Amino acid sequence: MLFKFIVTFFLFIFLKSSNELQELKIGGLFSDPIEKIAYQRTLKLMNEEYIGPFFQYNVTSHCFNVSDTNTFKAYIDTCNLLEKGIIGLFGPSSSYSSSYIQSICDRKEIPHVEIHSDPKLDRRYCSVNLHPHPTVLANVYLDLVKAFGWHKMIILYEKYESLSSISNLLELNVSHQKNVLIRKLETDINGSYHISLMNAKKTGETNFIIECSINVLDSVLKQAQQVGMMTDNYHFIIANLDMHTIDISPYQYAGTNITGLRIVNPNSPDVIRHTKEIQKLIIPSTNFNENFQGIKLRLRTALTIDSVRLFYETVHDLLSAGIINLNTQPMYCNTTDSWHNGYTIINYMKRRVFDGLTGELRFDYEGFRRDFKLDIMELSVEGLIKIGDWNSTSRQIVTKHLNRAEPLLTERNLFNKTFFIITCLTAPYAMLKETTTQLIGNDRFEGFGIDVIDKLSKLLGFNYTIIIQPDGQYGNFNRTSNEWNGMIKEIIEDRADFGIVDLTITSERENGVDFTMPFMNLGICILYRKPEPVPPSLFMFASPFSLSVWLMLGVAYFLVSFAIFVIGRLSPSEWVNPYPCVEEPEFLINQFSIRNCLWFTVGALMQQGSELEPKSISTRTASGVWWFFTLIMVSSYTANLAAFLTVETLVTSFKNIEELSRQTEIKYGAKRDGATANFFRDSNISTYQKIWRHMALHPEDMVNSNDEGVAKVEKENYAYLMESTSIEYETERHCSLAQVGNLLDDKGYGIAMKKFSEYRNEMSREVLKLQETGELSQLKIKWWKEKRGGGKCASKSEGGDATPLDLKNVGGVFLVLFVGSIMGLIGSFLEMAYQVWQECKEKKRCFKEDLIRNLKFVVHFKQNIKELSYDDDDNEVSEANLLESIKS
Ligand code: GLU
Repeated sequence: MLFKFIVTFFLFIFLKSSNELQELKIGGLFSDPIEKIAYQRTLKLMNEEYIGPFFQYNVTSHCFNVSDTNTFKAYIDTCNLLEKGIIGLFGPSSSYSSSYIQSICDRKEIPHVEIHSDPKLDRRYCSVNLHPHPTVLANVYLDLVKAFGWHKMIILYEKYESLSSISNLLELNVSHQKNVLIRKLETDINGSYHISLMNAKKTGETNFIIECSINVLDSVLKQAQQVGMMTDNYHFIIANLDMHTIDISPYQYAGTNITGLRIVNPNSPDVIRHTKEIQKLIIPSTNFNENFQGIKLRLRTALTIDSVRLFYETVHDLLSAGIINLNTQPMYCNTTDSWHNGYTIINYMKRRVFDGLTGELRFDYEGFRRDFKLDIMELSVEGLIKIGDWNSTSRQIVTKHLNRAEPLLTERNLFNKTFFIITCLTAPYAMLKETTTQLIGNDRFEGFGIDVIDKLSKLLGFNYTIIIQPDGQYGNFNRTSNEWNGMIKEIIEDRADFGIVDLTITSERENGVDFTMPFMNLGICILYRKPEPVPPSLFMFASPFSLSVWLMLGVAYFLVSFAIFVIGRLSPSEWVNPYPCVEEPEFLINQFSIRNCLWFTVGALMQQGSELEPKSISTRTASGVWWFFTLIMVSSYTANLAAFLTVETLVTSFKNIEELSRQTEIKYGAKRDGATANFFRDSNISTYQKIWRHMALHPEDMVNSNDEGVAKVEKENYAYLMESTSIEYETERHCSLAQVGNLLDDKGYGIAMKKFSEYRNEMSREVLKLQETGELSQLKIKWWKEKRGGGKCASKSEGGDATPLDLKNVGGVFLVLFVGSIMGLIGSFLEMAYQVWQECKEKKRCFKEDLIRNLKFVVHFKQNIKELSYDDDDNEVSEANLLESIKS
């Protein structure tokens, strides 16, 4: 470190002694003394900063004072400067002389640096201008007008030349059918603007764009106040980037909306430093302390400082890098010679990215400033505050409402003011009170929205008058006419201050108005008739199993019965002695005959059992497996049957939006021009696009209000796309209706107010407070569940435990019982008839007589003993028969 210092020191001494500082001259043409001071001071600072062992040049300046309109003098002075051998020319700051001087500099290849607002669209090769081009600046005013949603406005301008900085606004008349009037700020014989301002006031217009020089802006605003235009009804956009340098505190409590722009941030440390230094030079005796509140650095002064620094640093870098060598020579206006380094310097300046007092400096190929940022300023009770940014490249206004400092007095903004609150008669947000007494004013209305406004008015201390939007339109932007309608239009056009109803916060509406934080969250859903329960069928008892299971069960029954029959026959243990007393029986019998097997399996299936007892391991195994099978089947059947009998099966025509969009039977729609319809219109999801196509093709399915939609759902086969909170409200009262499917999106309702409204923060904060304290939930319960028929459907749905089974549910079981019994009766009759027929055939008796006799015996219920009449040889026959039957 020490070594480096010593080497540098000796090198400096050596170079200093061996080489005197070379003088580089630059020239300046100034009409403003402060700009001249800033220029000279910056040059001095730069010399002090840069002259050293490696930069042996002292840049000196030759300045002339020229008036803005004296082109000839500017020309003569330029020629004089050229004769001095200057390497760069600054100024003049006038668009009158600028073209002449530019063309001379171009011809002589002398870098020409300008800082004034120059509307010319072409630029000479050897020039740069640090001032943002007026046509680019015009964009910010256009963007502001759009953001504020102005449809009518008056442009008050001071000079024709300055109209270029608001030129785009003039096109609004044609391109956007806006009503833009242009009025010149004429001075009367006393030099005042009163008459112009009074005439402007008489038009009834409240939106103004004021384009004038900073020197007259103060008087214009003062006189606007004198003619009564500085009230909260008026909104001014000041098209001058120096607005913040004048004192506008007199209007700060008047509620006037004043919006301006700035490129120089007076609070930046660099700006403060330069301002103090310049102030010292202007008024040397002033005692500056830390709370210095003196002059404010104007844009052109800041640009002068930036331009000298940019030029100096470029020359320094080029010389240090050996890219140019500055052999200057005197040049004359009447000769054709030129300097060969000018274009190199100017091209390097254009390519440089430089951090100046006016933000980052970048130039395009033609030397126009590009990519600059502006602060959007607004007058509030705290003074002028930054509310957003604007970027010349993206042309986006980024507002920072929520980052704004808190107002000094919380209640100052709204306190004691009276506002018009616009709403629509939509239940339960705003409704007419149901009463026989005549009510007037706000008393006529009640509802959730009305209660919210009432609570806010008590918290913030404002008064309000409720007005009703006659056509019931909330606010939709017509993309062809570029016009808003409904409540939003009323707010934009100042006929209402706040709008409250089920007003959905959408990005489109955010372009026209501002919203508070949402006071309710919701999403789009489908309202449709409740699903119909399936009517119970006679054979409902069969429902627990599907047909295939029943069929498989039947097959299994027969197969297992046959298997047990075979196993029984195969298994020796199943062959038993019919007469255990006979030790050596002549034959063995087997209980598993095919009839018994069928009976045995059915007994197990019905959980009843039979008297048959498997003896061998194999039959027991088979039986055990069958019993296990029947156990599971019967348990499953029983469980499922309980569910089938007690739970109502509902038939739904569709379960979600996809199914709704696929079918054609059920008509569907939404509220015309509402946020729901617009959601489908703007969505990229194919299902929603399909829904929107349907809506567009069937305007008859769209409705004008939620009430109309609900009535349509009740009467027709119609599904209404509605917001979940409203569905909740309707299903509390219309028990045949229900919500189908899930929410399609997630959004909220907010209170609308004018764009950039100063009340937004306070209102939002209080809305949040109401939410946090649970007051909004209380209000929701009151208006949804309690008032105006709320809770009607809740009792029905809540009491639904087990319902007794109806005959319809179990009718089939009775039928089976009945049919089974009849079949048993018929079977027993046939059995008896067959037996009688066989006997008659054997004994050659009359079948009819025997049958009647047997039937008589059957109906003779008192007789419980049946006598048998045997013939002599009958005994043998019957014994033989018995044996045979046992064997079989
Ligand atoms: N809340 C909607 C709106 O703000 C109206 C109802 C709807 O579109 O479902 O436009």
